[in-house]
Order: sequence, then C-alpha cells, then structure tokens
Amino acid sequence: MTTDTIPAEMLVPRFLGRGEIRFVPKPVPEPGSGQLLVQAKANALCGSERGQFFDGSEVTPGHEAAGVVVAAGPETRTAVGTQGVIYLMDFCGECRSCGLGFTNQCTNKRGDVGFNRDGGYGPYVLINEHVFFPIGDDVPLAEATMLLDVMGTTGHAIRRGLRLREDVWSLGVAGAGPVGLGVLAIARILLGSGVPVVISDLSPYRLALAKRLGGNVIDLREKSVVEGLREHGLDAVDLAIDTSGKGVARQSHLEVLSKRGVLVCVGHGEGLSLDVSRDLIEPERVVLGSEYFCYEELTANLEILREHLPYLGQIVTHRFPVQDIKDAFDLFFRGETGKVLVEQ
Ligand SMILES: [Zn+2]
Ligand SMILES: [Zn+2]
Repeated sequence: MTTDTIPAEMLVPRFLGRGEIRFVPKPVPEPGSGQLLVQAKANALCGSERGQFFDGSEVTPGHEAAGVVVAAGPETRTAVGTQGVIYLMDFCGECRSCGLGFTNQCTNKRGDVGFNRDGGYGPYVLINEHVFFPIGDDVPLAEATMLLDVMGTTGHAIRRGLRLREDVWSLGVAGAGPVGLGVLAIARILLGSGVPVVISDLSPYRLALAKRLGGNVIDLREKSVVEGLREHGLDAVDLAIDTSGKGVARQSHLEVLSKRGVLVCVGHGEGLSLDVSRDLIEPERVVLGSEYFCYEELTANLEILREHLPYLGQIVTHRFPVQDIKDAFDLFFRGETGKVLVEQ
C-alpha cells in the first residue's frame, strides 16, 4: 500500500567530510516485502556521528529518527500513518541472542540504520518493519527521538547495573552530554529522587542543565571526583556509569566505587587499568559494558516518556530545520547543548 503523495526524488544531506554537508538528489526508495517507508520528522544528533561529520559518509546518516509510515510493502502489518521511532540495529530475529530478546547482541545483524544504511536525516527512510517501533499519536515525534539513545541506551545501562547491585543508594555519572543527562534523568525516575545522582563534566552549560534535572554536579574544571563527592556528602557511589569514554573518568569512578560497587561503561573510547586483586576481587566490584539496548525495552521506556514528558523534554535544548543541519552539528560539537534535533 502506498500513498500517491510520495515524490520520486528527494534531497538528502550528503556528509562530505571536514564538517561539510551538501544536499543532493536521491530517488525515494520503494518498500519491498517486509519493508516500510518512513517519512522522517525529527532526528537527534549524536556524538557517535563525529566520524561521519568530519570524515564523510557514503550513506545518509541519522540513527535517532522518529517519523510516520507513508508506504508499506507486502507482508507487513503496520498501517500507513503510524507514528514511531526507528531502532538502529537491523537484528535478525532468529539467532540465539535475538531469541532471548538481546537484539542489541544479534550475531547475524544485517546492518545499522544511519551507519551502513541510509538513515533519518533524509526525508524518507526505508527500513525492515521489525526495527520500527510504533508509539501512538500522543507523544510528539521530536520528543519521541529520546526513546533511542537518551532513554534506551541509558535505561539499558542502568538496568544492567541494577541487576548486579540491587541496593543502589548513590549513583555517579561521568559526563553530562546527552547520554549522561539521560542516565541522570532515567535514574531519578527509576530509583526515585531520594537516591543522589552525582554527575561530573567540564561544560558549565551541561552542568547547569544537569542541575535543573536534579543532579548533584561536579565541575571538573575546579575539583576532582573525590572532592566533588565529598562536597555532596558522599565518600563512594554504589553504581557508576561512564558516558564520557575517557580513561581518566572511568578510572576516577572505579576508585570511588563502594564495596560491591558496579561500574558500567557506556561511552566508547579509551581504556581502563585494573589492579584485579585490589579493584575487583577484594571489594567484589564489577566492571561491565553496555551497548545500545534491546528492542523490547522501548515498551517500558515509552510508558516512562509518556509519564514524564515535560521533565525529560528538558534534555532537548535545540531544534533546527534539517536545511540547517550543518549549523546544528557545529553548535552540538561545541558542547554547549543538551540534545539537538533536526526536524522536517
Ligand atoms: Zn546515537
Ligand atoms: Zn539475531
């Protein structure tokens, strides 16, 4: 089924490298069997697109997209007009991981939307139906983009940590970028406002935003994590989540973990050095990784978004028309933003 208002051609932003973006024509694809054509309405910018912005990209980037189904191929069940978000990983649905719901650990992944498939910065995105998550009509599409990295990746990391440490009385978050702010906000919702969340960064803009969201902030330009914690009345944290990818941040949060503490690494990047006896065995600490999230988590996160829309909506600080996508990236990479969206 298709609607006859879909044009044959569209203009998509081509990432040329060195921060240059040019709009070029491209045919609008037609959905084949099991596929949907989604008209992208909003797509959030992500720190993981740094490489595409500066080195260029063969495909149209954009992996935090929300939009409306405008055409559906044969053997699909999603009605034209359905609103939803697009899950990044085109999982197989059949492997051992997928069978258990760990779609983010699919062993036979077909692709990543926006990285090796055309993504959500173009007007129309062709996807396999199972990566589309319908959201209903009551959540605005701009805010719905938060279901992806801001809520999905962070909720997964927190839940992984909570599985290993049930009595979390304090949380440390390294980095107050969009993912760090998401960890803070989701932790406040999941753990309750009685559990202090201490969040550290170098950007005054991001620290101010973290404070508005209820975080106890540490300005790393002025003090260390240990000093900052002490100021907030803590000498350790039970759970720490590193969103910065910086070795020094991982290290400093490992050092302030309580006995039985858990460090979850979410930010890709640098390493961590472990003295296994001192850091892990004796205090029975855990260090683990967390990558994106499972498709099924979107259901619970959508309920959280519905319930806390104004609170979570504060994380989106800037919106640009897609034509100004270069300005959006320039601003975003200067670090004085929360989540930045382009809309079309
Ligand atoms: Zn992302
Ligand atoms: Zn799979």
